[in-house]
Amino acid sequence: SITPAALSAISNGARHGILFKGSVHLERLASLKAIAFDKTGTLTQGKPTVTDVYTREGTTKEELLYITASIENHSNHPLAAAIVQYAKQAFGVEPGNPELVEDITGFGLRGTLNGNVYKIGKPDFIGSEAHDFAGGAAAVLAGEGKTLVYVGDDSGILGLIALKDVLRQETIRAIGELQKVGVQTIMITGDNEQTAAAIAAESHIPEFYASCLPEMKVDTIQKLKEKYGTVAMIGDGINDAPALATASVGIAMGEGTDVALETADVVLMKNELSRIAQAIRLSKRMNVIVK
Ligand code: ADP
Ligand code: MG
Repeated sequence: SITPAALSAISNGARHGILFKGSVHLERLASLKAIAFDKTGTLTQGKPTVTDVYTREGTTKEELLYITASIENHSNHPLAAAIVQYAKQAFGVEPGNPELVEDITGFGLRGTLNGNVYKIGKPDFIGSEAHDFAGGAAAVLAGEGKTLVYVGDDSGILGLIALKDVLRQETIRAIGELQKVGVQTIMITGDNEQTAAAIAAESHIPEFYASCLPEMKVDTIQKLKEKYGTVAMIGDGINDAPALATASVGIAMGEGTDVALETADVVLMKNELSRIAQAIRLSKRMNVIVK
């Protein structure tokens, strides 16, 4: 049964855009020690744009973008939409029809176009030569917080597309408010180490875990629970759902995917990160009333 104090706190939350799927989740926030944030679509707007394109000798940017856009046109990853849009706008490229596209979760895509097989995504997935492609450019781009998408075929690396996603307007303030109420802030992402380090620094988040596949996000949450105690996780993607389920409190962004919304205990209906600190204050006040 639900106490009048809990009911009142839950409806107070709902008026402010925080949906609790039960009073136990609200109660638990009072003892929150740490919160882990997904990067893309949670700390950032999740709307990356293409900033730089590098190709190897003998391959034009148009060719690279035609291949990449044709294959990415069959993915619903935020990076995919950005690349397709850029190919159309900057080069007037219309995506072609690939014979086959496979989504390799956490790494990228494999696609067959006009009889050739291409791989698009992280360097470890494309081939070890990716690390040396474009000289020192990759390290500089990643240091700027950009995500690097490599494109290769069986002859090697064809090119590199860099994309930048900006922080949500209120990310830095929301992180500061949580730190002020004594909650540790952590970032967990599938993106590479250098890009993750840059975005964590921009967000003023001191602890981060990069190159995490969905199962690794789960392991990381488990370790954080051992380290800190009550730990929340906040995310928006299908790849965040297992981690949301593992956290003491799982929080979904309102614009997130259905799976994230269904798995979470709490939903931030308007994607407002600053509501988290508010929910903690609400929880502490409610627990005082209950006692
Ligand atoms: P995140 O959203 O935290 O970055 P994902 O698991 O969705 O995590 O992706 C991890 C990484 O895999 C991305 O940062 C990107 O480098 C690569 N990747 C995934 N899907 C694609 C795609 N469709 N096109 C290019 N790269 C991709
Ligand atoms: Mg995300």
